[in-house]
Amino acid sequence: GIEGIEDTPENLVARPPVVTVMGHVDHGKTSLLDALRTTDMAGGEAGGITQHIGAYQVTLASGAKITFLDTPGHEAFTAMRARGASITDVVVLVVAADDGVMPQTIEAIKHAKAADAPIIVAINKIDKPGANPERVRQELLSHEIVVESLGGDVQDVEVSAKKREGLDKLEEAILLQAEILDLKANPNRSAEGAVIESRLDKGRGSVASVLVQKGVLNKGDIVVAGAEWGRVRALVNDRGRQVSEAGPSTPVEVLGLTGVPAAGAPFVVVENEMRAREICEFRQRKLKEHHVAGQVAARGTLDQMLARIQAGEQKEVAVLIKADVRGSAEALQATVLKLAHEEVGVRVVNATVGQITESDVQLAKASDSVIIAFNVRATSQARLLAQREDVDIRYYSIIYQVADDVEQLVRGKIAPKHREVFLGYAEIRKVFDITRVGKVAGCYVTEGVVKRGCGVRLLRDGVVIHEGDLSQLKRFKDDVKEAAKGYECGLSFAGYNDLREGDVVECFESELVPA
Ligand code: GDP
Repeated sequence: GIEGIEDTPENLVARPPVVTVMGHVDHGKTSLLDALRTTDMAGGEAGGITQHIGAYQVTLASGAKITFLDTPGHEAFTAMRARGASITDVVVLVVAADDGVMPQTIEAIKHAKAADAPIIVAINKIDKPGANPERVRQELLSHEIVVESLGGDVQDVEVSAKKREGLDKLEEAILLQAEILDLKANPNRSAEGAVIESRLDKGRGSVASVLVQKGVLNKGDIVVAGAEWGRVRALVNDRGRQVSEAGPSTPVEVLGLTGVPAAGAPFVVVENEMRAREICEFRQRKLKEHHVAGQVAARGTLDQMLARIQAGEQKEVAVLIKADVRGSAEALQATVLKLAHEEVGVRVVNATVGQITESDVQLAKASDSVIIAFNVRATSQARLLAQREDVDIRYYSIIYQVADDVEQLVRGKIAPKHREVFLGYAEIRKVFDITRVGKVAGCYVTEGVVKRGCGVRLLRDGVVIHEGDLSQLKRFKDDVKEAAKGYECGLSFAGYNDLREGDVVECFESELVPA
């Protein structure tokens, strides 16, 4: 394949819709996906859809095809969107007819709206005695989902995943929506798409499930996926069969990549190995550069929790703890649990060790909790996701400050006594040992500014290994007041000498905030 072929209207052809199923836990997402899987008519002697490769494609009796992403839940969807992958054309919102609209139903609606994906409501469990589909339609009204029977334009279908009823109607609704969306792709060009999931397989090496969005992916193509590349050694479809090509809206497993790309990473076919290497080297360098810790705290989960506690709607403070070492994680957990009182409890969703990753942020989002980061920082991807999802990350290095803040929350107040102002990041490029001065770090300021006399934290692989004061800030031979992004500078730390190339210096100032 060759890059850069224009997608003009005349070389576009219709492609199958790609569908994500979302909804509240236990409302039947998995059951519905399993039921829809069996509606495939193309199976015949070749055997039906047997493999879980992250997505599958059904062929209906009419010959029309629909692709379903079979990793239900919001996490996968959110993770993909966080990386900019927009792969869902239609969201099927599953609502159990006996249970109605629940918190994750509302969350799913928000996700779908944020992604600009039209929703089709599948009112499930219609076989149950307590089923009340009319109530579901009414409840959806207050979340701006107006179904057709109530004068809106959202299609709704009553189904029973268990009894396999209404599945054909649901598929018809999806196809109708696809027609309205006028989904098209150019099959006569090199392939582009997104990684749905990936893993390292003992026997087969890197296995990446991808969804082809444009063009046709061929065996032998050279592919770049995220910061990984490789020549496609084999393509395996959702029936576990090797195929030589995969066209638009087709999910397929790709073997032959040199590494494991992240879910949601875009993939593209390039003209040769050299180009692939170039792109990947650049991307890996970028990843490293951005691998500095996160400081920006969004105002989301914390404010929301506080508002609910103040309104008496919430009876517990939920926190997710990430710490530098096991001892701190355990101590923090014990400390915050003790702060519960009669009216408001404390729930520790998770208490683990290490950098804050995207899955921590997703868990915090799903559980409406605040992340307490103790001497650790977030990966740049996690930081971006937290910003996008308004998940609060609070950074601490002193246990009693955590205790103070959680106690305030439990009391329905939030009054941090001091607020830290983030100044900037500098990366240590070289360490000099100077007589009578000690170690001096030759740094490059990658973000913000470094100021004379500011507080500093030394981060090694996202974990804080030292916190203290800056004793010297120099540009060449001169003492200076500050050094801004893009400049080099020499730093030394008061009473601290264990500096290494690649360490990141986080600079901050403290500011008093009235209670
Ligand atoms: P998920 O958490 O949304 O993936 O929900 P599951 O698919 O795991 O279903 C949760 C429970 O509901 C399981 O016990 C299913 O057997 C049951 N269930 C799912 N669909 C139906 C249905 O249409 N009718 C009835 N009666 N039960 C269903």
